[in-house]
Amino acid sequence: MSDCLFCAIVAGDVPSDRVVETDDTYAFRDINPAAPVHVLVIPKRHVPTVEHLEPGDADVLAACFATIQEVARSEGIADDGYRVVANVGRHGGMTIPHLHFHVIGGRPLRWPPE
Ligand code: AMP
Ligand code: ZN
Repeated sequence: MSDCLFCAIVAGDVPSDRVVETDDTYAFRDINPAAPVHVLVIPKRHVPTVEHLEPGDADVLAACFATIQEVARSEGIADDGYRVVANVGRHGGMTIPHLHFHVIGGRPLRWPPE
């Protein structure tokens, strides 16, 4: 999508701090980290939000979660645990409408978040 920031990051038109890249996914450090580890995992294909997922997107979701595991292992947070968050829409606090999973860890996290 031409005016999407995360599509521009996937294309390399906007710089990012890459953590993991696969054929279908891209993981990069959040520019405003909420914890010692804060990585965003996205499908390379533009899907706006969880609300736009369809049954045919099962493969891309599986690929995202495989990348989430890879990020957690390479960042050294897999054993202690971490949080995976997908914000959706206005009430969810979503600011970039390209599906993304926040992978947050490196310290104990409180729940619920607010
Ligand atoms: P959300 O609020 O769930 O839509 O999350 C969007 C996230 O993208 C926020 O945590 C931002 O800090 C992060 N973000 C915005 N612009 C960039 C960027 N250019 N590179 C990396 N992360 C970004
Ligand atoms: Zn996009």
